[in-house]
Amino acid sequence: MPELPEVETVRQGLLPAMQGKKLVKLQLNRKNLRFNFDVDLVERLEQKIVIDIERRSKYLLMHFEDENQTSHNSQKETLIGHLGMSGKFTIHTHNEAKMREHLKHDHVIFSLEDGTEVVYNDPRRFGFLLLAEPNDWQNHKLIKDIGPEPLTDDFDANYLAKQSAKKQGNIKNHLLNQKIVAGLGNIYVCEALFRAKLDPTLPASILANINNKPTKACKTLVPIIKNILQEAIEAGGSTLKDYRKADGDLGYIQHRFTTYSREGEPCVTQNCKSKIARIVQSGRSTFYCPSCQKR
Ligand SMILES: [Zn+2]
Repeated sequence: MPELPEVETVRQGLLPAMQGKKLVKLQLNRKNLRFNFDVDLVERLEQKIVIDIERRSKYLLMHFEDENQTSHNSQKETLIGHLGMSGKFTIHTHNEAKMREHLKHDHVIFSLEDGTEVVYNDPRRFGFLLLAEPNDWQNHKLIKDIGPEPLTDDFDANYLAKQSAKKQGNIKNHLLNQKIVAGLGNIYVCEALFRAKLDPTLPASILANINNKPTKACKTLVPIIKNILQEAIEAGGSTLKDYRKADGDLGYIQHRFTTYSREGEPCVTQNCKSKIARIVQSGRSTFYCPSCQKR
């Protein structure tokens, strides 16, 4: 499942293909993905300009505006996209789009004024594309309660300590909670706890001292989270550079992880003789090194 860095890579891939261009046709090949499409989706987006594509947590935000905007009645539409388990966008230039036959799971096709086609394909259909209320995407129910973006200054050790004080739930699930911090998923949380040498079963409260200030563990963990995400985004960016538009699948960059899905394999820490273990926390696998991440 794509996490924040993968969604950011998708955003960076889509932006140059779509920004500033008019959406001349929006083709829906079904009536739903995970959720039904808005009944007026096509009507509200066709003939509008894609003015920007942003990301919030694991959501893509495609912003559209009328071609002839006057500032006093500017109505901005925002399409909130989520890739689910298997969703992907592919980009096809005018010439490629003319030659290309649509594939079985090509559910949504964005045709832009220069002939570019952006195709959303999703075999398992856990992804979705939903319209927010005009000019009001921030208050959409999926968005409004999400915590700070981990790569912004709003997410720092003081903030995380305050959120973690007296929380007895385990630190792993705490970091997966989207109200605490946006966009972290199973993979990057496992990696961050490994690098910070924190046992994933410890209570979240170990991140705060008695005055709700950050402990050493918290001060170690926060920059590690930021670095892991930044590294993954940079790896995604360099993959985009060699990405062949016709065949590339935006969003599924293969990263190398030190713990994730490596159960039974040797720990990468120098001189550590342990093997990566797997436990289940709230129904999700946690991979960790029982020696390096001792309590
Ligand atoms: Zn180890």
